[in-house]
Amino acid sequence: MQLRQSNTVPGSWPVVLLCAWLLAMLAVPSWGQDQTTSGSVRQQLDQARVVSYTEHWQDAQAILDELGPQLDAFELPEFVDFHLLEARHLVLADRSLEALERATMLLERPLKDDQRLRVLQFMANTGVLLRDYETAFDSLLNALQIEPRVDDPVAGISTYNMAAYMFGKVGEHERAMQYGQEAISRALTAGETNEECVARQRVAPVYKWADQPEQSETQYRRGIAACSKIGNQLFVGVLQHGLADLLRAQGRLEEARKLAIASIGVLQDSVYPLGEHEARLVLAETLYDLGAITPEVRAGFTAVADYFRTMGLWDQTARMDRLLARIAEDRGELRRALDHYRRHLDAREQFLDRDRAMRLAYLEIEFDTRLKDRQIDLLEESARVAHVEATTANQQRRLRSIILLLSIFVALLLAILLINAFRGRRYFRQLSRHDTLSGLANQGWFLERAASLLEEATRQGASAYLVMADVDHFKRINDEFGHLSGDQVLGQVARRLREAFGAPALIGRVGGEEFAVLIIADHIAPAIDGIETFQQQPAGSSRADDPAVTLSFGISRYRQGENLEMLRKRADEALYQAKREGRNRYVISPEARDDRDHP
Ligand code: GH3
Ligand code: MG
Ligand code: MG
Repeated sequence: MQLRQSNTVPGSWPVVLLCAWLLAMLAVPSWGQDQTTSGSVRQQLDQARVVSYTEHWQDAQAILDELGPQLDAFELPEFVDFHLLEARHLVLADRSLEALERATMLLERPLKDDQRLRVLQFMANTGVLLRDYETAFDSLLNALQIEPRVDDPVAGISTYNMAAYMFGKVGEHERAMQYGQEAISRALTAGETNEECVARQRVAPVYKWADQPEQSETQYRRGIAACSKIGNQLFVGVLQHGLADLLRAQGRLEEARKLAIASIGVLQDSVYPLGEHEARLVLAETLYDLGAITPEVRAGFTAVADYFRTMGLWDQTARMDRLLARIAEDRGELRRALDHYRRHLDAREQFLDRDRAMRLAYLEIEFDTRLKDRQIDLLEESARVAHVEATTANQQRRLRSIILLLSIFVALLLAILLINAFRGRRYFRQLSRHDTLSGLANQGWFLERAASLLEEATRQGASAYLVMADVDHFKRINDEFGHLSGDQVLGQVARRLREAFGAPALIGRVGGEEFAVLIIADHIAPAIDGIETFQQQPAGSSRADDPAVTLSFGISRYRQGENLEMLRKRADEALYQAKREGRNRYVISPEARDDRDHP
């Protein structure tokens, strides 16, 4: 294994993780499915992949170097496969940062979900190797988001494996176990024993950390069975010492010892020194618990401790130093024991720093993701509120318009009603005060108006004349021409009286064919002028068969202090006199006769 040559490997779990991922990559069936790219490029890429995973990666890189000049002509699937394989080689060449840059470049392309998922899986693994936990968790969470959109259920297994292990590492046990179980059930459904082996290896320690030893043991044992079945000795060994560690903690020391010894043998054969040393650590702790530390056994411990320290495996270093400290203490070598305890504390500090860094990175990424979700929620919420506000504003505007229109309508209606009522009132007042046939003031209105005009005249010391008029022989007209013609004649007489006496005179129809004219004047002249003007007008209408109509008039003068009745009485007397004297003339009441002679 090439990774063994790098001394920047941070600890056994990322290495195992990477191995698992590399195995998973081999099984990805989507490799080389594209029909559009030229066959030879696809074949060469497939060959490079097989060489990279089964032989020496430098040989695989040589194939990629040959393909390099044609890179611009690659279709997207080949482009992605090329760069991912080369990125893997960069990691193996201890140039993991460049590998991450390469993967980031790929993410900027318009990748399909399955391609994006593979790139993110690579980044998550590389992030762990580089101890760049932000990148690791960020990629992992993104991969988990994309995974449901990828049709191939097997393609997501490595994401779930990664999630099980990483969430387990940062203490999110529930979540880790869920992902682990999902990976296992997918592997079982697909009948992929290889995937099952890896998935159980991922989830078994999670149950151990979550303090569920029985579940953990089941997973370890099933994992060992699955991995044995496909001949993956390396994983068998790793699972064995993991189970040994679990059993030792439960006090099942003899079982633990046997498993640890078996694990050491298997891992030695697989040439996986890191796992082998971890198995040795478990065996050492078990032997100590058994009280079986012999000088020969003890002699091997220093090499194991040195190995861990050199590799920067602080958790294991701390455990080894604690063991050595206890042994020294038991032997009464207190100075040596103190030394080991100090080293133990230092290593533990280093380990916890790294653990904290990972947990912090996880929390940060998780927080960012939640914050992003929260911001999206807030944005959606504010968009919803804005929409509701807009709708409400619209409705309010519409409501206001309706109210305005209604108000205008009601106002118009009121105005019309008011005008109508006003007109009606005026009309009815007009009706009640005027005679419909002649259009003149009726008797009631004439008397009312005349009384107030006389009062006014009294106040101002003015004089007034009353002219009473009666149509001559009207009965004959009715008899000769009919009642309707009689009515028409009355109308004509009224019009002629208005024209003759003019606007200032108050004229009324005070009986059937009787009229009264009140003139406020200091002299009788306007009254006589009016009568004479009337008499000069052509009698009747212009038609030849129209009746000739004449009127007789009586004039009285108002005396200060008297009432209308007295005034009228004298005018009536004068009128009767005019009738007696032959009609179609006027007679002036005695009190007014002098007025004519003294203008
Ligand atoms: P005299 O010259 O003496 O006044 O004669 P006369 O026929 O006018 O007088 P009389 O008082 O005898 O008759 C008045 C007639 O006027 C009686 C009535 O039928 C008629 N008369 C009263 N009011 C109306 C009316 O509104 N329409 C019509 N067509 N006739 C009316
Ligand atoms: Mg009459
Ligand atoms: Mg008459």
